[in-house]
Amino acid sequence: MALLASGAFCTSASAACGPDALGTARTLTLKREFAAYGATQHAPLPLSPGEVVLTFDDGPRPETAAQVLKALADQCAKGTFMAVGSNLAQFPDLARQELAQGHSIGLHSHTHPHPKDLSPADQLADLKRAEDAYRVVFGTAAPAYRFPFLEETPTLMSAIQAEKLTVMSIDVGIDDWQPDDTTEKLVTRLVDRLKVAGGGIILMHDANAMTAASMPALLKALKDNGYKVVHLEWEK
Ligand SMILES: [Zn+2]
Repeated sequence: MALLASGAFCTSASAACGPDALGTARTLTLKREFAAYGATQHAPLPLSPGEVVLTFDDGPRPETAAQVLKALADQCAKGTFMAVGSNLAQFPDLARQELAQGHSIGLHSHTHPHPKDLSPADQLADLKRAEDAYRVVFGTAAPAYRFPFLEETPTLMSAIQAEKLTVMSIDVGIDDWQPDDTTEKLVTRLVDRLKVAGGGIILMHDANAMTAASMPALLKALKDNGYKVVHLEWEK
């Protein structure tokens, strides 16, 4: 890993990152306080037209993490992984690798339940287990949370507000869980939906095999269509 003059970390595999790479245009550092972003459910992030934030749900998984990290490194593109707590606990080294490569990491529940199917006590227990797993792996409090299935509940919202977690909803999803997905279909969905939205927080699933395999093509499509990657960080 080399520290570039710009302060951006790149792996040696991405030494060729130049004007042809997607790159990371800027970093947006959010305060560690309650806020909720993503126009699907909340306010949009303060982004300019054509700016996108790459977010990945449901990992880290050993089947797909290396592919996703390599594709991002090859393009010097930084993303935010919304990790499932049980995966963090099971694969802490993968999670630390994501952080070491300059990505940021939030939480996406502990067991990926439908929150509305759980009692308030069980909702809070899942959140606490996820937060505990994050603390064990990274030694810090989690900065952000994305509801599983984007299924918000008043109980969890109150707890998340008290914990000063940023709620991360989305602007653009590519529905990358469909069994007949192909790289071509995912790229088409990404490009078509971004054309409508103009940019914003993109939801992908790093735990999904087809998404992981399609990452080079998805990132190339962003570059070819002129989108700029904004990396999200949180104040310590
Ligand atoms: Zn999910």
